[in-house]
Amino acid sequence: MSTVTAYAAPAEAAPLGKTVIERRELGPHDVLIDIAFAGICHSDIHTVRGDWGPQQYPLAPGHEITGTVAAVGAEVTAHALGDRVGVGCLVNSCRECEYCRRGDEQFCTQGAVGTYGAVDRDGTITQGGYSQQVVVTEDFVLRIPDALPLDAAAPLLCAGITTYSPLRHWKVGPGTRVAVVGLGGLGHMGVQIAHALGAEVTVLSQTLAKQDDGLRLGADRYFATSDPETFRALRGSFDVILNTVSAVIDLRSYLGLLDVDGTIVCVGAPAEALALNAGSLIAGRRSIAGSNIGGIRETQEMLDFCAEHGITAQIEVIPASAINDAYERVLASDVRYRFVIDAATLSD
Ligand code: NAP
Ligand code: ZN
Ligand code: ZN
Repeated sequence: MSTVTAYAAPAEAAPLGKTVIERRELGPHDVLIDIAFAGICHSDIHTVRGDWGPQQYPLAPGHEITGTVAAVGAEVTAHALGDRVGVGCLVNSCRECEYCRRGDEQFCTQGAVGTYGAVDRDGTITQGGYSQQVVVTEDFVLRIPDALPLDAAAPLLCAGITTYSPLRHWKVGPGTRVAVVGLGGLGHMGVQIAHALGAEVTVLSQTLAKQDDGLRLGADRYFATSDPETFRALRGSFDVILNTVSAVIDLRSYLGLLDVDGTIVCVGAPAEALALNAGSLIAGRRSIAGSNIGGIRETQEMLDFCAEHGITAQIEVIPASAINDAYERVLASDVRYRFVIDAATLSD
């Protein structure tokens, strides 16, 4: 057991502060990673504020981790000292169930182990990436392609895969009319990836304040959802809507934007329930779906895809001391487009 400096929430909804957490001794299949950067995902905020249910505290969030390999266990073959690596939302699973075997570890029937606040297979509670080092079993460690800088690559480990996976699953490509709702951390990745897949991309944001950014990121069109005219003008015009909003939206209005057989995929996970009117589905044989991050194999595929297409997150690197302020800005939709913690500042 070793201890490392981390930023953690001491209790539900309490500000995060500097603390020390434990990391396990390196097992034969473990990789010790010196963390360089950790992105701030809205899920970190939902979790430490209790939006998704009670947690054990102290809780160090962070599941968008990049860094370099500092040591490897005796039987590790996939990673070597000094390698540039990443860790996303998952750090373990059973490896044996049908979902693990096909690379959908996020649906593991034994319970996929999240990077923080989850019970690991050895019974310990996982602690996340707002910390100096992490120990992860080699199968859940990703390679960061050389073309991607470690800071701007960190958000790919959650925001990237969470948008890439549904865009691939719903076969988005040339000719697909995609709308991305919410231009935050997930949304700005979704726009870039959908554009790189060849789709026609529309951003639906609360206002036009970020329109220039949206178009620069690859959107073809940009509309404000605060303007009721948007919902009239765009009626029936999308095949896929990717809803990345962290709050409740009026599903009925958005379902009306889908063409016949269109699908709205919800990845945003607000604390409160979304209201659904069956008539909005029936009218156009429309579907509503959800998508949960992505498996390890697909996460590597996404990283390689982003390297090939020159896609990274637009980031604001912050010192650890600014985490609580960054949380307030994320909650106010004032993020362009991901805060990334410089792990070198954790001990300041
Ligand atoms: P984020 O950076 O805060 O982005 C969310 C965006 O939603 C905001 O930038 C804003 O975009 C829009 N928004 C916020 N409040 C709104 C409101 N009241 N009404 C309408 N639009 C609003 O958050 P994120 O990190 O991208 O995460 C987004 C959601 O996805 C969170 O709920 C998170 O927990 C969830 N998530 C799910 C998965 C999964 O596997 N399914 C994985 C990661 C995250 P505009 O300013 O452009 O309107
Ligand atoms: Zn996340
Ligand atoms: Zn499994």
